[in-house]
Amino acid sequence: MIDVLVIGGGNAALCAALMAREAGASVLLLETAPREWRGGNSIHTRNLRCMHDAPQDVLTGAYPEDEFWQDLLKVTGGKTDEKLARLAIRESSTCRDWMRRHGVFFQPSLTGTLHLSRTNAFFMGGGKALVNAYYRSAEKLGVQIRYDAPVESLELHSASGSGRRLFKAALLKNGERIMASSCVLAAGGFESNLGWLREAWGQNELGEWPADNFLIRGTRFNQGVVLKALLDAGADPIGDPTQAHMVAIDARAPLYDGGICTRIDCVSLGIVVNRDARRFYDEGEDFWPKRYAIWGRLVAQQPGQVAYSVIDAKAVGRFMPPVFPGVKADTLPQLAQQLGLDVATFMQTVDGYNAACGAGNFDHTVLDDCHTQGVSPAKTHWARPIDTAPFYAYAVKPGITFTYLGLKTDETAAVQFAGVPSANLFVAGEMMAGNVLGQGYTAGVGMSIGTAFGRIAGVQAAKSVKHTNIAT
Ligand SMILES: Cc1cc2nc3c(=O)[nH]c(=O)nc-3n(C[C@H](O)[C@H](O)[C@H](O)COP(=O)(O)OP(=O)(O)OC[C@H]3O[C@@H](n4cnc5c(N)ncnc54)[C@H](O)[C@@H]3O)c2cc1C
Repeated sequence: MIDVLVIGGGNAALCAALMAREAGASVLLLETAPREWRGGNSIHTRNLRCMHDAPQDVLTGAYPEDEFWQDLLKVTGGKTDEKLARLAIRESSTCRDWMRRHGVFFQPSLTGTLHLSRTNAFFMGGGKALVNAYYRSAEKLGVQIRYDAPVESLELHSASGSGRRLFKAALLKNGERIMASSCVLAAGGFESNLGWLREAWGQNELGEWPADNFLIRGTRFNQGVVLKALLDAGADPIGDPTQAHMVAIDARAPLYDGGICTRIDCVSLGIVVNRDARRFYDEGEDFWPKRYAIWGRLVAQQPGQVAYSVIDAKAVGRFMPPVFPGVKADTLPQLAQQLGLDVATFMQTVDGYNAACGAGNFDHTVLDDCHTQGVSPAKTHWARPIDTAPFYAYAVKPGITFTYLGLKTDETAAVQFAGVPSANLFVAGEMMAGNVLGQGYTAGVGMSIGTAFGRIAGVQAAKSVKHTNIAT
């Protein structure tokens, strides 16, 4: 019988598999995707957020534990577990040497990459290269890997005496039953499951089903099958099913796997209006890496789940340009017309905003003093009039990255049942990220959480093998 069964094939699963194998356990990893689509959302990533007290290889300056923690506290509005968050933060300062040993290379952030050179270490070749490196290393170390291996449910049982829930076997879609001494769940959230998203978001006051207009930024394989099976089996849940990392992305993006090139990164340099040609949120609330992941949700709350990011010529060259060009016009009324917006309302919105922009020293690299006065919603930084032709606009839709509903866990990454941690069932990555991310996001923290808890889960799963004695 296998010692450690790992369910999933992305970053968290691979970290767990590698750590368990390094601890001496025999490991089998089950990935639902075929080999060519292996790696889940992790293949789309670019970086992880790292704590450090002084400049380190690809990272500039210092990003101490408390600053990282304060950033997390702010973006989550306090909806986070401090103990687990700090654990992930501390782990992020030590994991890179281990990652390098498994073939991951890092590079400094490119200039213009959204204020991340101090806080985020970029993977050379992106997440795809990282995932490929981990698979190579896992194969070399003797981790068994099976593709096209969708797990449908788990067989659990109760330990005699304590009533503690234990993992016994995984049941595959083809009816196969795979036993192991312990198990790590790292099968992602339910972001790819359109039906579940529809159910979670329900109908709005206009009678619309907002989720019908969502696009999935990553893999189609994170259907939440294992998550649902565990919740049905009584595992303690964490998080709200409508909370997620959601980005406002190019409305022309494909339904799945559009990846990062569909992002529209000029929101903080201009204004955003909805289908009614009205602004609805402070575009300059904070640095873009701390805000980009809430804009998908904001757009989801607008009629038709669509919005338009509008800039003028002054913004060009100050953000990473999207892959496809936006709508371009020499005058603002022409721009509104091309977008299909009511011209009079659009002009009223832009004129009102322009008139509210005060004097200030524009500086996109700091939280500058360019803000509006007397307009609602306010724009609190980088507020400059939209007045220089040509004008550009991008239609955006909610792009869901990953959901936060997951399984409650602790410092050992154990799955809990009625508050009691399982002795041989562990969880990592998106399936538990909601413990740290109750809402909001700060760039790169998904991989910090997945790497930290993947590594912890792998070690704990290997350790539990010695203590687990399961009757067949
Ligand atoms: C476009 C995009 C860009 C991103 N960029 C970044 C970034 O730069 N930095 C960052 O920190 N985060 C980023 N993220 C978020 C990041 O991808 C996630 O936080 C992280 O990859 C989660 O890792 P994971 O292993 O939990 O999930 P995944 O990598 O999604 O892995 C889940 C795995 O489980 C498998 N699986 C699903 N169901 C089953 C089943 N029933 N049986 C067996 N296997 C199953 C899937 O096929 C997949 O291999 C990005 C996400 C996207 C979509």
